[in-house]
Amino acid sequence: MTATLLKNGRVIDPANSRDEVADVLVGADGNIGQVGPNLDAGPDVPVLDCTGQVVAPGLIDMHVHLRVPGQEYKEDVPSGTAAAANGGFTAIVCQPNTRPAIDHASIVKDILAQARDASARVHVIGAVSMGLENKELTEMADLKDAGVVGIGDDAFPVHDSGFLRRAMEYCRMLDLPYIAHCEDKDLTGDGVMNEGYVSTVLGLKGIPRSAENVGTARNVLLAMATGCRLHVLHVSTKESVEIIRHAKKFGAPVTCETCPQYVALTDEACYGYDTNAKMSPPLRTRADQDAVKQGLADGTIDAIATDHAPHAPHEKEQEFARVPFGMLGLETALGLVITHLVKPGVLTLAQAIEKMSTAPARILRVLGGTLSVGAPADITVFDPDAEWTVDVSQFKSKSRNSVLNGVTLMGRPVATFVGGRQICL
Ligand SMILES: [Zn+2]
Repeated sequence: MTATLLKNGRVIDPANSRDEVADVLVGADGNIGQVGPNLDAGPDVPVLDCTGQVVAPGLIDMHVHLRVPGQEYKEDVPSGTAAAANGGFTAIVCQPNTRPAIDHASIVKDILAQARDASARVHVIGAVSMGLENKELTEMADLKDAGVVGIGDDAFPVHDSGFLRRAMEYCRMLDLPYIAHCEDKDLTGDGVMNEGYVSTVLGLKGIPRSAENVGTARNVLLAMATGCRLHVLHVSTKESVEIIRHAKKFGAPVTCETCPQYVALTDEACYGYDTNAKMSPPLRTRADQDAVKQGLADGTIDAIATDHAPHAPHEKEQEFARVPFGMLGLETALGLVITHLVKPGVLTLAQAIEKMSTAPARILRVLGGTLSVGAPADITVFDPDAEWTVDVSQFKSKSRNSVLNGVTLMGRPVATFVGGRQICL
């Protein structure tokens, strides 16, 4: 590996409270060698001119459905990590609702082995239960030894509170965060979109907001009771934001994320029965959007993750009620965040980077999230003012299910480095 000098970028490193025009020397050892104005690395070190661009710690997506193992026709390690790099992410965290579920140490080891030289680092969340059937707990200590960075139940939320309490007690003992999809499925029933005016107009079955809210409240209370670190996935309702804000005031060991789609879109995206707008939790209302933005601004919402959920065309091209939940996220997240949060002044660039890099690293205790000298050189360079139009045909993902095709966004990745290795975008 050769050293590289990133010259004249706006270096934003929330972990070190740095926001200034400076240079970053990526060392030949794969670590950050030096950070400061007017560095001179000598004539032999190639220079990447970053004038007008932001140099940030590599973005980390805490919430990706990599579809490995078992559904590689939707996404696999090469395509998923290429999509990550193309979106400015240097690390992704894959959720355990695969087929089979990530419920055994051997599956964890296999994913990590496949990802060894991939275009982004891959971290793994282990399943809380065998087959995510929520009847038998997994061997969490084995999963931890194999390398998982958390235990979770995404897409298959644990219904039995006694079972979840036991799971959280084990997580606390093993010092692993519990990564929770908060939803009471009895309330969801066979709903397919947010319950409200738009669902009535479209004649589609609604999912009441209480499905998410009841799940959030119950899980927060169990985290307080067990002392388990709880991370709440994809917060989308104003009540969930309020519950978490309140819980944090009481010192609850809770963190949470939202996704760019919940600040950029509302349930009106379902007009025309666009199945790419069907996701779980569903797109909500303007009032929820405002509350989520407020939660991001005041720090209630710690992180921004994508819930990247690839599906094949034959799965999404059916009637609305039948298609699977989820949309792609990796390749549009940065543009959505800059367009809908940074440009309108909801978050500063430093706050956005904090929520997309520093906070995920802190919550999951993984590498990255900093440009400290000596840290692995995981770096994202992006142009915050670049205007571009989303063209799903150009995505590196294997799938195409995005409601954003043809939408113009501001902010685009220019380069990523993973452990000092420049990834080809
Ligand atoms: Zn989920």
